[in-house]
Amino acid sequence: MLNIDLHCHSTISDGLLTPTQLVERAAIRGVETLALTDHDDIAGLAEARQIAETKNITFINGVEISVSWRGRTLHIVGLDIDPQYTPLIEGLAVVRAGRTQRAENIAAELAKIGIHDSLAGAYAYVGEQRLIGRTHFARFLVEQGYAKDVKSVFKKYLIKGKPGYTPHEWAALSDAIDWIRGSGGRAVIAHPGRYHLGKNVLNDLFDEFCALGGAAIEVVTSSHTPEQVIDFAKHARNMDLMVSCGSDFHGPGESYYDLGQLPELPLGCKPVWHDWKNLTSIE
Ligand code: AMP
Ligand code: MN
Ligand code: MN
Ligand code: MN
Repeated sequence: MLNIDLHCHSTISDGLLTPTQLVERAAIRGVETLALTDHDDIAGLAEARQIAETKNITFINGVEISVSWRGRTLHIVGLDIDPQYTPLIEGLAVVRAGRTQRAENIAAELAKIGIHDSLAGAYAYVGEQRLIGRTHFARFLVEQGYAKDVKSVFKKYLIKGKPGYTPHEWAALSDAIDWIRGSGGRAVIAHPGRYHLGKNVLNDLFDEFCALGGAAIEVVTSSHTPEQVIDFAKHARNMDLMVSCGSDFHGPGESYYDLGQLPELPLGCKPVWHDWKNLTSIE
């Protein structure tokens, strides 16, 4: 079986390892094909690809785009994208500018409950590319003793209904898919189990995603239960969508699956990589 991981993060977004460290870890752990999928940024791809080549890892250019759909936030992974494609580059720049603005709003909300200077605090955890997200706020709040770990901070402060949450308008689903497809890539609905959508809304999402040219559903991921894996594989088969798998690794100990550790896809699915050239298993 091919050891493949098509979803992970580096310090370009909210991961803890640099692109180089990430690929080195993947290599040690036996990953043969790897996509780096930072949130709304492709600045890590060149470095990751360069290291991957020295480790005999097949590297896939990726990204995870933040999308607003019917008032909810969804994540769309783009695989095998062209990082030189101008509409993608420009679209992501707009999304990142939105993140900068949202960070100021989050800091203002936190100040209302007496948590001051969180913007500077969060930025201290941001990498050189200056992409800021809730995870950076979470790390700062853990440092300040507001909760024991990142997960607890999210629960207490950063998710919908909590004091540090601010609504935000991300990219449109159609735009995200267009940027990915226009650049020659495939669009994948990331971790659908995390959106807690009812049956009808979920079916609407899959219908719309298909109509817009979406290609695959991420079935195996750290945040899915075994039941969800089976369920989303079924959806994929019914909708004639391909399936994908990725750890959503952010750093050692931060996700359920580490790099190179993913279980196999359920039988009868068409992997999103089924027609990619030159994927060779070492075994
Ligand atoms: P953002 O795109 O800035 O809103 O942040 C989303 C990121 O926050 C996700 O990619 C995860 O890395 C992290 N995240 C979201 N929800 C949680 C949670 N409940 N516990 C831990 N991390 C989370
Ligand atoms: Mn993240
Ligand atoms: Mn995600
Ligand atoms: Mn992710």
